[in-house]
Amino acid sequence: MGCGPDDAEGRVLSAPADPTRPVGAQTQLVEGGRRAEWTQGIVNPAVWRASTVLFNSVADLRAASTRPNDGLYYGRRGTPTQWALAEALTALEPGAEGTMLYPSGVAAVAGALLSVLKPGDELLVVDSAYEPTRAFCRTVLAPMGVTTRFYDPMIGAGIADLIGERTAAILMESPGSLTFEVQDVPAICAVARARGVATVLDNTWATPLLFRAIEHGVDLTVLACTKYIVGHSDAMLGSVTAGPGRFKRLRDLVHAYGIHVAPDDAFLGSRGLRTLAVRMRQHEAGGLAVARWLADQPQVARVIHPAMPGCPGHEIWARDFSGASGLFGFVLAGGDDAARTALIDGLVHFGIGYSWGGYESLAIPVDPAGLRTATEWAAAGPMVRLHIGLEDPDDLIADLAAGLRRFDAVVGSR
Ligand SMILES: *Cc1c(COP(=O)(O)O)cnc(C)c1O
Repeated sequence: MGCGPDDAEGRVLSAPADPTRPVGAQTQLVEGGRRAEWTQGIVNPAVWRASTVLFNSVADLRAASTRPNDGLYYGRRGTPTQWALAEALTALEPGAEGTMLYPSGVAAVAGALLSVLKPGDELLVVDSAYEPTRAFCRTVLAPMGVTTRFYDPMIGAGIADLIGERTAAILMESPGSLTFEVQDVPAICAVARARGVATVLDNTWATPLLFRAIEHGVDLTVLACTKYIVGHSDAMLGSVTAGPGRFKRLRDLVHAYGIHVAPDDAFLGSRGLRTLAVRMRQHEAGGLAVARWLADQPQVARVIHPAMPGCPGHEIWARDFSGASGLFGFVLAGGDDAARTALIDGLVHFGIGYSWGGYESLAIPVDPAGLRTATEWAAAGPMVRLHIGLEDPDDLIADLAAGLRRFDAVVGSR
């Protein structure tokens, strides 16, 4: 389900006007993966539903078998529907070798880690990682003899002290998707590269539009495409984009496990990708409007938004990222779970549910303390995570203002 170095050579959409001048990311989003032989003159690559591919002769069938990564071969290896999305994602990461697609973000994290680990190795995982990523370490890696050590998200170049004989890989997630610490990815990657350790980044919050992982030294960059790439909360999808020397093993494992992404889901990924830049600008603007308003409310102890001072690693965000998405959190000034629940339950413009990155706003309670093992989570009160969708920010603010009044009512009744 990928597209990389030995895939079909094809005509690009059109010859670049000036081959020495790299096109911008927004142009890449619009044009990526739309090879003429894949689109047949239609704007969007078609949805090809395929298992068997028919050949004209035994000779053609045999020829395809000797080059199974090059052109149509068998449905499991994908069709232009999946290749177009993989190629478009690769184009967003200058210096990348190729991209493999997965049926979910969790499957992509698993695929990236398995491509750089073997029994006896040690993996370093950021303490702020997505809980299902931690679960993969416990459920799959531990029984196969890979040990996991968790580290402080703010460790930076200090990661050098944790690297031992058996350390084979470092997993980063920046910002953390629950608590938003921004990691010094370039510093960690520089240390890792010098010590021969592979680096994997979960870049779901920023997408390659706001943080170019491969350019910053990452070996394998993971997206839960379910979030901002699909962008409409209607498909599950993941991707891993590989830097130099990392693609072949990644692809071999996808083929060995028989991983395949449904053409309709790949199409929804490509469809979402075209509008990523405009959606992201709106998520950023709406998110910051709501976050700045929240920061001024007496019931709010702390807003944790990578683009605002006070977020751990905010200065790293300012240095390395070209913008913010719409996901952040806030900590209430005191109160308990019942007060927080009153705040969330009555919201009318926010849905209550997992995931994020769609066009709609979401609110959930988050309790990071019990998830950590290497660092402590200390907070003045319970925490809420918000995803700010594409609604009018004023409506969302009015909704939250009413929520804070419900919070006050419960706190005041004690
Ligand atoms: C949602 C998420 C994932 C997993 O993606 P799914 O498509 O839901 O499996 C991985 N990493 C992060 C940071 C996420 O937010």
